Amino acid sequence: MTQAVDGARGSARGANPASANPASVNPASAGPGETLADPLGSLADLVAGGGLVILSGAGLSTESGIPDYRGPTGLARRAEPMTYQAFAGSAAARQRYWARSHRGWRNIAQARPNAGHHAVAELERGGLVTGMITQNVDGLHQAAGARRVVELHGSLDHVICLACKARTSRAELDRRLSAANSGWHATVTAIKPDGDAVLGDDEAERFRVVDCTACGGVLKPDVVFFGENVPPARVQECYALAGQASALVVLGSSLTVMSGYRFVRHAAKLAIPVVIVNNGPTRGDAQAQLIIDAPLGRTLAAVVERCQLIHYGS
Ligand SMILES: [Zn+2]
Repeated sequence: MTQAVDGARGSARGANPASANPASVNPASAGPGETLADPLGSLADLVAGGGLVILSGAGLSTESGIPDYRGPTGLARRAEPMTYQAFAGSAAARQRYWARSHRGWRNIAQARPNAGHHAVAELERGGLVTGMITQNVDGLHQAAGARRVVELHGSLDHVICLACKARTSRAELDRRLSAANSGWHATVTAIKPDGDAVLGDDEAERFRVVDCTACGGVLKPDVVFFGENVPPARVQECYALAGQASALVVLGSSLTVMSGYRFVRHAAKLAIPVVIVNNGPTRGDAQAQLIIDAPLGRTLAAVVERCQLIHYGS
């Protein structure tokens, strides 16, 4: 563990990531006063050095009541996500999608940022975080006050017309869908991080979809669907952010999807230290100098507290 701790203390830049020996540790097991040997202290030291870029995933939002796809609370795993091809190619698929999404949106709209989101925003305000790449579409980083957020997979709070490309607010669509479906009721068995709710088929069949008010075109949430590419300019922006980081800090992502994992590989290739805070193993563990397998909210709150001690003296 000492080796990994040394790596996390800032000397990892230039080290061969392949030779790193990541420690998978739970900060709860570290005793009081273990400032050099405990991983939380190492993370705090690294964070206090500034220049951090955050890469966040669904695991950061589970404590806000939005379930993860793959993490320990991934109840909705059994339902297949809608692909762009199915959505664009089938009116029945769109009806099913919007029925589920209309019901699921309530949960997303009501979700509030948790201690983890607040900690990240606090670190940005303190000048330690230079940018955030989020795979989440729930807007909770911004709701916590974070500013420099790149929403890699878009945002659920807007919809886009596939014909005229008009981008409009989800709140407005929500009002239109509610008006078109007064009396419609759905029994929800699960909600997913993209706001998709699992409903019965017959419930979806009774749902009325509405179209673009400007041109009558098909409306789609302004998020990147499975089978759809992230806009290239956005990808380049994320590569640039990750490439300029003093350290890339992964928060709550198993990095299963290449869309986010590629930035970890990019950082590792440039010998930029990679730190992972996640519940459970991730695809990026081999590239990481420090891994903390623990709940996000209290871990990040503790890091902020320790950073303040480092900055203002204890
Ligand atoms: Zn339109």
